[in-house]
Amino acid sequence: MIQLNWSTEAEAAMSGVPGFVRGMARKAVEDEALKHGINEITPELVRAVKDKYFTSIFGGKKEEKVEVDRVNKGDKKPHKIAIIRCETVSETCPGIACMLAWNKKKIHFAGYGPDDELIAMLTCGGCSGRRVSRMVEKLKKYGLDTVHLSSCMLLEGDYPKCPHLAEIKQSILAKGIEVVEGTHH
Ligand code: SF4
Repeated sequence: MIQLNWSTEAEAAMSGVPGFVRGMARKAVEDEALKHGINEITPELVRAVKDKYFTSIFGGKKEEKVEVDRVNKGDKKPHKIAIIRCETVSETCPGIACMLAWNKKKIHFAGYGPDDELIAMLTCGGCSGRRVSRMVEKLKKYGLDTVHLSSCMLLEGDYPKCPHLAEIKQSILAKGIEVVEGTHH
């Protein structure tokens, strides 16, 4: 078992991480170190992990570049939103980055206001998005306006892009609900 040592500079590089996700961020850095047989945690390693996985959690320039594609302009009533994410990815991801983006109204949530409401966050139910249509139908009774498909469904890299994205999107649109692709990336 490799003994990991955090340098003072690496600890300082973690200072911008919100307390409620700091444990997860530290674990990501340590996992990366172990993967590469590194026992000294440096600020460079912290930054590399930040760029690779957690830009929206650590904060930084990347999120400022992301184009906001949904702006709640002039709506009188609060906008009601649900996030649908990948069932498979949910086995290892608690959805922290999606929630952080929502709570801070960043990235794909940047256009929403303080009165807008996240009314549900659910998984697709497994391939091929088998419960999306039924859940959207239920949420319509609670005033659902927009579904955000989580970034984990869209990104290729650590996990494959959802092969059923087009059908899932179409099943939501068919219910008269707007779809936005993305949450925190
Ligand atoms: S349908 Fe797509 S989002 Fe749902 S579990 Fe399968 S790959 Fe993930």
